[in-house]
Formats: sequence, structure tokens, C-alpha cells
Amino acid sequence: MPQPFDQVIQSQLNELKEQGLYRKMRILGGEQQPRSAIDGHQVINLSSNNYLGLTTRPELKEAAKAAIDKYGVGTGAVRTIIGTMDIHEELERKLAAFKHTEATLVLQSGFTANAAVLGSTLGDSDLVISDELNHASIIDGVRLTKAARKVYKHNDMSDLERVLEETKSGNYRTILIVTDGVFSMDGDIAPLPRISELAKHYGAVTMVDDAHASGVLGAHGSGTVHHFGLDKEWDVSVGTLSKAIGAIGGYAACSQALRELMEHRARPFLFSTSHPPSVTATCLAALDLLQSAEGQELIDRLWDNTRFFKSGLAALGFNTGISETPITPVIVGEGARAMQFSDRLFASGVFAQGIAFPTVARDKGRVRTIVTATHTRQDLEEALNIFEHVGREMSLIGA
Ligand SMILES: *Cc1c(COP(=O)(O)O)cnc(C)c1O
Repeated sequence: MPQPFDQVIQSQLNELKEQGLYRKMRILGGEQQPRSAIDGHQVINLSSNNYLGLTTRPELKEAAKAAIDKYGVGTGAVRTIIGTMDIHEELERKLAAFKHTEATLVLQSGFTANAAVLGSTLGDSDLVISDELNHASIIDGVRLTKAARKVYKHNDMSDLERVLEETKSGNYRTILIVTDGVFSMDGDIAPLPRISELAKHYGAVTMVDDAHASGVLGAHGSGTVHHFGLDKEWDVSVGTLSKAIGAIGGYAACSQALRELMEHRARPFLFSTSHPPSVTATCLAALDLLQSAEGQELIDRLWDNTRFFKSGLAALGFNTGISETPITPVIVGEGARAMQFSDRLFASGVFAQGIAFPTVARDKGRVRTIVTATHTRQDLEEALNIFEHVGREMSLIGA
């Protein structure tokens, strides 16, 4: 007889508790803001992906409301049956212009966008080569395929070259190299120019997941590919509408032909309902904003805040790792210590998520901070004071 289901569940929960990995979700009591009510406390919020503050932007809220009045609250079907509205197609055209690609295809989330691209393009005679620190949605997307897989050391181009060299003896239909654009735990950027060069040399296809770069890097936030001037060379980018864009959704930016193939093959596209019109209209308004002077100002402010906060943390003596983006880790070592640091920061008025093994290496426990364009200087100065105070108390920095 199999075991009683309740016991199977409970023993796994107990295991998580024994390993110190069990956690309680923090609850937001209102809007996602630079200062938010979290678990009933008003704190400076350094943990959202709301890079440009668009989740509460008035013109986006208005666009969502107007779309509800015109189109209703849902689409009532998957895209390929009768769930594609004119605004869905309009968003895809605008996204293609934003990403400087021939076409885009929008999916329900960034997570499903990876599943869509990988699942539609890879079969049993293909190989995928993946950075060891790639996002879980890439890893799961790959698992949905029958392709062979190889992993290269994080951002290590000689290791990628070594893996590519090995492929010479294989007889693959497609070799696809996939990487995050900006890595979500360390905030470092993938070396796309070198990846592109190597891909050309070995006949490989290039794919980047730009979830943390969309709306952040490149002119008007168009992402890492444009940032590096690779529009003409790069094959596929995945982006999210859930982070800087402020709503929800994901997309693949690619050739028209790949879009058409995904329309026929991508399982999240074929078998899951399309976005409600309010989401699509919100994203359209967000893209209009991003491409305006005001949008560029928001991005500039995001980077000003990033430089200010990152240099402030470093000046206090914290280890902020190798970040090049608004994601700044404060690395403290042991996971339990990182969790304790996060809790004490919270009690003093700052929410910065603690992150431990297995999400990061055992000795690289950290709190992760993300500043946004809408944090004021005063928010950030106050946060730095709190980091200093708690950091000294815990002997993470010198007195
Ligand atoms: C957040 C994230 C995703 C998932 O995007 P959603 O739109 O939230 O599903 C995918 N890839 C990376 C690298 C991410 O950081």
C-alpha cells in the first residue's frame, strides 16, 4: 500500500523545517510601493521587481479600466480559438518595434514564454547549452523537451567554448545556447557579444532571457541584445511584462517564422487562455510610456538610484559582489545568518529578502536588494542608515 498522503506531505514539510528552509510569506497590505505596508509594518521595500514603479502608475490604471469597459474582464478562449483580440495583436506589433525584431509572441508569463520557445524549437536530435545559473523557468523549459543538454560554468566563455568544441563529434540538427541576460541573484550581465561570436563559429542559435533587463537596460529599456548592439545577430529574446512593465506576461521576440511555428507548437499558447484585456491594455500603455521622454527619465532615475545605493553599501564595507545592475546582493556567508540579517533589517524598517542555499551557494547567503526609480533619495539614505546600524550590530561590517 502507498503511504497516507497527509503523512507524505507532513514529512516533507518537517524536512524543510529541519533544514531551515521553511518560510512564511510576507503579505503586502496595499499597493506595491517604495514604502509599503508589509505584515502590518510600514517599511522601505527593497524587494520588488517593480523597477520603474509602473504597478501603480495612473495612466496604466486608466488604460486597464478603459479596456475593461470596452472588452470585458476576460477573453473566454485560448489565442488560437477565439481568444485573440485586436489589442493582443497591437501589443505584439508594438513589442516587436520595442525589441527591434521582426515579430513577438506574447504568453501568459515569462515562465511560460521560456517553455514556449524551448518546447517549440527543440526535439530529440537537438542540443541545448545552458549557463549553470540560468533561471528555473529555463531549466524547466528544457526539461519539457527531448533535447540533449550540457551546462557551462557561469558566464565562463572558455568553458562555453569547451562545450561547443565537444559538439563537433555530435550530429545535431540545432544547437541552442541559452542564458539569462541579467542574473537574478547576482545582478551581473551575460557576455552576449562573446556568446554570439562563439555561436556563429560553431553554428549555434542564441537565446537570452531578459526578464530583469526589459525596461532596465538598453535604450528605452529594450534589453541586453540592444544594449550590446546585437539586434542583427541575436536569434531569440524572451522578456517579461511582469517586472519593469508592471503587469503580468511574457513574450518571445524573434523572427516572423519562429513566431508562426510557436503559434502551432507552443503548448502554453495553444492550451491556456489569453491575457485579460486589462492586462494587454496596461502593457500597451507601459510601452508607450517607456518610449517617451518621461519613460527614459524613469530609467535614468532607476540607474541614478542604483549607483547611489550600490556605492553607499560598498562604502559601508558590505560585500556587494559583482552586480552591474539595480539588483545588489549583500553577501554575508552562511544562509541562516542571511535570514537573520533580513529579519533584523525588517524589524528596523527595511524589507530585503534573505536568500540561502539551495538558491545560492552554501557560503554565499545574502539579502538581495532591488532599488526602483520611485525610491526617493530620503528612502535610500534611510535604508543605508538601517543597513549600517544592523550591519554593525551583527558584526557584518567594522565598527
Ligand atoms: C522572473 C523571471 C522569469 C519569470 O517571469 P514571470 O513573468 O514572472 O513569469 C523568467 N526568467 C527570469 C530570468 C526571471 O528573472
